[in-house]
Amino acid sequence: MIDLLKPTPMLMDDRLTQLAAENDRLEMEVRLRDRYLAFVTHELRTPLTPIVMLSEMLAAQDELDDDTRDAAAQIHGNALLATRLIADLLDLSRLNYGKLQYRMEPLDIHEIIMHAESAVSFDASDRSIALTMNLAATAHVVYGDVDRLTQALLNLLTNGVKFTGDCGSVSVRTWDIDAGRIGIAVGDTGIGIDPERLPHLFDPFYQAPEERSARKHGLGLGLAISKMLIEAHGGSLTVHSDGVGAGSTFEVVLPVSSANPS
Ligand code: ADP
Repeated sequence: MIDLLKPTPMLMDDRLTQLAAENDRLEMEVRLRDRYLAFVTHELRTPLTPIVMLSEMLAAQDELDDDTRDAAAQIHGNALLATRLIADLLDLSRLNYGKLQYRMEPLDIHEIIMHAESAVSFDASDRSIALTMNLAATAHVVYGDVDRLTQALLNLLTNGVKFTGDCGSVSVRTWDIDAGRIGIAVGDTGIGIDPERLPHLFDPFYQAPEERSARKHGLGLGLAISKMLIEAHGGSLTVHSDGVGAGSTFEVVLPVSSANPS
């Protein structure tokens, strides 16, 4: 008697062939999408470069009237924003492709942190947010790409300031985890993160629904890119928050190098 619940070898083979074909089709679609993304972002960047430069020049022309200079400054600000969004898309597509190039050298990660901190200090002080640093790690040379590590750490600090209310605080601390690793924590007293959202935070294009509807600037790529960049350096990026209103802490772990920074 035939057991109807038990698939026959013939049916199993058909199903496996079908699944393999479906898998090939999906992989091809993803490859095409990534190639399209790389092409479009590259093409969009080219015409933006002169807009950024010329609008900046016009905004600084004393002989123009105030309204014209204001208009040029607005064009400049928006062109810069579009350039950043396109750069994020380009980075994501290169990271997905494994095509991002790194210029690896021994670096003092404390210097990178101080540099990133000074880049956000204006926005922080404008909103009375206290920025504190406690760089206590004794081994702080890492082997990495200065621009890419700056990008990742700057993103964490920028988010810290962005998601913290006026008069809050953002802190950075470092410590020795063990002989081969440094820990870097970027903490804030800001809006915090709902536990249900935590697992999605590093997904590309993830943004809290209220931010999407408020049309805040950003595509939800910063954290995804930061995590991939840190992992490409042999490290990890994790997040902790006790929930909405309880602030957040992003923790980076990186291997330390015994070489001297150049
Ligand atoms: P974007 O590039 O658009 O700024 P990110 O990838 O950097 O996006 O961040 C994705 C989302 O993660 C944000 O929209 C926000 O909901 C959440 N998030 C990131 N950093 C923090 C933080 N310090 N506190 C609270 N939420 C945060």
